[in-house]
Amino acid sequence: MALSFDTEVQYLKGVGPKLGDVLRRRGVHTVGDLLEWYPRGYEDRRAARSISSLEPGDLVSIQAQVLNVRSMQMGRSRRKMYEVLVGDSSGRISCMYFRVPYNGYFERFQIQSQVRVSGKVMHYRGRLQFNHPDIHLVGADEEDEDELLPLYTETEGLRPGKLRKVLSQAIHDLIDHPQEVKAPKDKIERKDVRWVRDPYAPRQVGVPESFPGWMLEKYDLVSRKQALKEIHQPPAEKGDQYVEFRSEAQKRIIFEEFFWLELHLASIKAGLQKEEAFAMQGDLAEVHKVQGSLPFELTSAQNRALQEVLEDLKKGHPMHRLVQGDVGCGKTMVALLSAVFAKSSGFQSAIMVPTEILAEQHYKNAVKLLEPFGITVTLLTGQLKAKEKREALEGVENGEFHVVVGTHALIQKEVQFKKLGLVIIDEQHRFGVDQRNQLKSKGVSPHFLVMTATPIPRTLAMTVYGDLDVSIIDEMPPGRSPVVTRKAFENKRSKVYGFLKDQIAKGRQAYIVYPLVEESEVMDLKDAVSEYEKLQAEFPDLKFGLLHGKMKPVEKEQVMRDFRAEKFHCLIATTVIEVGVDVPNANIMVIEHAERFGLSQLHQLRGRVGRGQHKSYCVLMLSYAISDEGRYRAEVMEQTTDGFKIAEADLELRGPGEFLGRRQSGMTGFKMANLVRDVEILQAARKAAFELIGRDRELAEKDHAVVKEKLKQTRENYLG
Ligand code: ADP
Ligand code: MG
Repeated sequence: MALSFDTEVQYLKGVGPKLGDVLRRRGVHTVGDLLEWYPRGYEDRRAARSISSLEPGDLVSIQAQVLNVRSMQMGRSRRKMYEVLVGDSSGRISCMYFRVPYNGYFERFQIQSQVRVSGKVMHYRGRLQFNHPDIHLVGADEEDEDELLPLYTETEGLRPGKLRKVLSQAIHDLIDHPQEVKAPKDKIERKDVRWVRDPYAPRQVGVPESFPGWMLEKYDLVSRKQALKEIHQPPAEKGDQYVEFRSEAQKRIIFEEFFWLELHLASIKAGLQKEEAFAMQGDLAEVHKVQGSLPFELTSAQNRALQEVLEDLKKGHPMHRLVQGDVGCGKTMVALLSAVFAKSSGFQSAIMVPTEILAEQHYKNAVKLLEPFGITVTLLTGQLKAKEKREALEGVENGEFHVVVGTHALIQKEVQFKKLGLVIIDEQHRFGVDQRNQLKSKGVSPHFLVMTATPIPRTLAMTVYGDLDVSIIDEMPPGRSPVVTRKAFENKRSKVYGFLKDQIAKGRQAYIVYPLVEESEVMDLKDAVSEYEKLQAEFPDLKFGLLHGKMKPVEKEQVMRDFRAEKFHCLIATTVIEVGVDVPNANIMVIEHAERFGLSQLHQLRGRVGRGQHKSYCVLMLSYAISDEGRYRAEVMEQTTDGFKIAEADLELRGPGEFLGRRQSGMTGFKMANLVRDVEILQAARKAAFELIGRDRELAEKDHAVVKEKLKQTRENYLG
């Protein structure tokens, strides 16, 4: 029987009903799905190494003997961890597993059996080890003489050797000897059949190409067919390239994974450019006048961002610009000056922030800066009294107010603007298409300016914010002294408290941050609530406040207001203060169990201090059983306060999930692509996607039909 890419996998020679079930459970329904089951790594046997020659960071294969297999309880949890200790004549090394692929997996390894282990060498507490390496028994599979072996994720009921065999069959039938397939007679509509738009047409022969010819040529890509063959049957002489994921075949697959995402983003952006907005023709002199009243000069980075924004505002389609910059770099100023330009053009601006307390803070700043120039400002939050609210709403509707600062209350139906031209969104809460649409008047969109203090490595920013233009403020106003950061262990606790008391005696305030709200059974972390009680008892002459995630929003805001009003000295908090307020008088932060926090979180937390004229401090309390990585994180924090540097370090350590989670969690679903390793390919794929949309915005050309279909699927995947 002739097979096509979308034939059910069961029709493949060597796949019976039983194996068909196993495959389907893994999401492999068609022969094409099988070919897209990518190896997770490669073992290059010619480059096998002796254990004593291993260095941290090496990506290697070794052949060794099993010396011991044991399981351990992880902490006090019920989860198990496995260690397979292996050795060769030169030394020994542990293979650690925190997950078990399937029951009985580790029982296969008998003491003294020969295994091959491939993975990355890690350094942990002064020793080398592998975390989750590929491991398999020598002699269990037939192709032991192969020099370069693709490695697949282990699956119960499917030995790697068997998987390789059915894959060869698929490659034989679809790539090496493809045959024309007749259309099926029975009329079935199947959701999982891909690439087939007309189910009655003869199916495509072999592996369909997804890219138009010009793209393959211009971006130097091998065909999909060749790529799918080679990743499963890599030529041995290219071992190095395969191990490093740098072969032509892998590049093609990785490029394609990125391409669909980037094409999706490019098409969103093209759609936005079709929308209409008011082109603002305001008076720069007014902006300069307000600017001149400031007690400081804008930094050159602020100036650059402001220029970029003003250029956008003059255009006839809506701006969608993100201003990214570390806490305290002066984003608000850029936003307020943009609002001045909007006003001088005859438009209102709305400034939307995530919390009531931030709204009040911005409102006060805006009044101080703008009202002297006849620019009127009002506040609109859920907490206003009925009368205040009515007045605010009326003034917004009749155009009396030029600038409105508020929370989500701003986008409720009852809020009618006279002439809304600019929407400024601070701290980047999720702001969806629906909400944008609510702010449109008669088909005309306002301009959007989004501000975020979450530094994202440049290489990722273009993907995370792929549909936005980005301005980066990478410079701090002069005269800021960086927060002095030190790590400390338990033996220094009384010294830390002493220091804290000294600062409080000088009139300063402090934060103490805990990772969890309530005592957890899993780990004996100090929790905020019990520590609050303990510290209050221990230091009766100090006043403490408490803030945690289980409190109601109004309660939280009250606590923050009290802290700002200096009603207590020290705020004990969980991470809810991350996106918080400005309390310039607070100059010291103690972070308990600092090893439990990721780098970007530590950075966000630390950003709460160092906001006033007082020298500021951050103490990272660490437990003795700290991992190398935890120690490294603390050291990064000691060495720099530059959010971008910290973000780069975080990306290296943890991969991109942390950054993407905030906005595009779907992006971590790549099968082969890796956002850290493959940044160059990502850039090329992005360029290609934008070029394609530039050439053929509607993807109407015949050559682009397959791309168009695939874009539709991508959209469906990312929606939701
Ligand atoms: P963020 O980027 O975190 O929103 P803000 O806009 O709140 O930062 O600015 C932090 C502080 O720095 C504010 O008090 C602001 O007035 C001040 N500031 C802003 N720009 C400058 C500048 N160019 N020089 C000196 N101080 C500035
Ligand atoms: Mg701000």
